Amino acid sequence: MSDDRVVIVGSGPTGTIAAWTLVRAGFKVTLLESGCSFPKHLHVRLCDREIYCPYALEIRDRVTYPHFENLGDPLTRWFKAHLLGGLGSFWGGVVLRFAAEDFTQGELVSQRFCWPIRYEDLEPYYNRVEQLIGVRGGTRSVPVLPACQVSRVLDVPQEFSDLAAAAAKLDRWLVPTNHVYGNSTILSQIPSPANVGIRLLARLRRCKNFRLISNAHVTRLQLHQTKAAAAGVEYIDRQSGELCFQAGKAVVLAAGQLGSTHILLNSCSGNGVSGVDNASGLIGRYLHDNMYAAYTYDVDRPPLKQSLMSYLTRPDYAKAEPLRTTGFQIYAGALDKKPLANAKLRGNLGLAPQSLQEGEFSLLFACFGTQVPQESRHVSLHPTAKDEYGLPLLRIGTCQDRQDLETLADGRRAAEALMEVAGWQFRPKNIAIEPPGTSVHFGGTIRMHDNPNFGVLNAFNAMHDIPNVFVVDASCFTTCVEKNPTLTAMAIAMRAADFLIRNSASLP
Ligand SMILES: Cc1cc2nc3c(=O)[nH]c(=O)nc-3n(C[C@H](O)[C@H](O)[C@H](O)COP(=O)(O)OP(=O)(O)OC[C@H]3O[C@@H](n4cnc5c(N)ncnc54)[C@H](O)[C@@H]3O)c2cc1C
Repeated sequence: MSDDRVVIVGSGPTGTIAAWTLVRAGFKVTLLESGCSFPKHLHVRLCDREIYCPYALEIRDRVTYPHFENLGDPLTRWFKAHLLGGLGSFWGGVVLRFAAEDFTQGELVSQRFCWPIRYEDLEPYYNRVEQLIGVRGGTRSVPVLPACQVSRVLDVPQEFSDLAAAAAKLDRWLVPTNHVYGNSTILSQIPSPANVGIRLLARLRRCKNFRLISNAHVTRLQLHQTKAAAAGVEYIDRQSGELCFQAGKAVVLAAGQLGSTHILLNSCSGNGVSGVDNASGLIGRYLHDNMYAAYTYDVDRPPLKQSLMSYLTRPDYAKAEPLRTTGFQIYAGALDKKPLANAKLRGNLGLAPQSLQEGEFSLLFACFGTQVPQESRHVSLHPTAKDEYGLPLLRIGTCQDRQDLETLADGRRAAEALMEVAGWQFRPKNIAIEPPGTSVHFGGTIRMHDNPNFGVLNAFNAMHDIPNVFVVDASCFTTCVEKNPTLTAMAIAMRAADFLIRNSASLP
């Protein structure tokens, strides 16, 4: 490629994976990031033994709660982290591959829900991403969840063997929870080995063809006057307040699901400014969410010495309505060691405190439910109100409808059926259906589809209308899948970067 740079926006897991792929292929990359630092915290692991490992929850005070106008459920949440590494600085690091059917189930419902890619398209990228980030997990593929390539093998805890047997009778599977693990020995200031962005940035910064500009809040794409292509991006230097421009041969948006959507909406034509056409009106539409519900039970079992965790899959595809399902992370033991149980975080999230005592055997079914995408669920720009950067305020219009609540109720029945079939005595302790956005798994607002009437992006994440603009975070998802989205978004980001590498000469 010539001297032209690829401009990437966002230093979270997806932006840094794209940057890594391009830089390794010899491309010049400039990465623009609105934030400027990352939360430091010593992490010491010696030969797989955790000596000092701050739980990521302890450093999550850096999450911001941006202003937005709420057009739907008044409790809707939007989490953002303007810092190097993005939300990947404190995510749970749970990584699950989508199964082949996750890309095809939508076709059973409507042509609008056809992904333009198949599992086989992503498989090599799942492999590459997993090798890069280091995954600990199970090695057995089950029909609804392909195994990751793991560097450390994990089994279902012995204490869960009854549950595993019960799951099989219910057409679900209980498997180890795959998570980003990193190396066996770590002495690092990075708070979590799952902090993919920071780990990759540390390596990228040593490459001469990579440039990071932090404190650069991207406002909009700037288009060429004469051709359907982006010339680069405009950004606000947050230190000087100056409006700047970064030219690029191609632009890769990886600013987080709503962050990338905000940039594209700001780039649309209007007020005498020429820009992205959005004639189909699709940008910002089809917002979907992994609905989150926390079902906690006291269980009549001997107390545990340590917390345990496993993943309960969705049911077999033949046993569930397409696009409507649930999957669960199951936590057992002292809840003060479990995600979402930390009192401070719960306070930050606006969740009610939990009251479980150390030593009890309690089971938390962290339920992730799918939403059938609807055009009416959306994000858009406020006509007059501005955000802290002077940009139009984002409006979020979403809520959980009757069908969604039924999906979550099915999930609760599945959790209770699991314990019943396992022969475990239980009683509900805390049943909480959380508002939209709680899982931090929004998606769909810049969706992929072969047909430009149904999607903004093609099969390689380039915009149908502006082929040198790529969107690689989970806003590109065509349908909502119950599995945590970030591994798939990273694989998609790597695949889009690979496409750019192969086709840079033919970009407009
Ligand atoms: C507590 C918690 C636990 C989670 N656990 C999991 C999990 O176990 N598994 C899972 O799959 N997912 C999980 N997630 C979700 C996961 O963190 C996100 O899906 C993931 O970080 C998305 O990666 P990304 O690179 O697309 O975006 P982000 O990580 O959000 O990064 C986007 C970056 O873009 C920057 N940015 C935004 N706007 C602009 C702009 N205009 N200009 C310049 N820069 C900009 C931001 O500052 C940020 O650094 C969790 C999230 C949270 C908060």
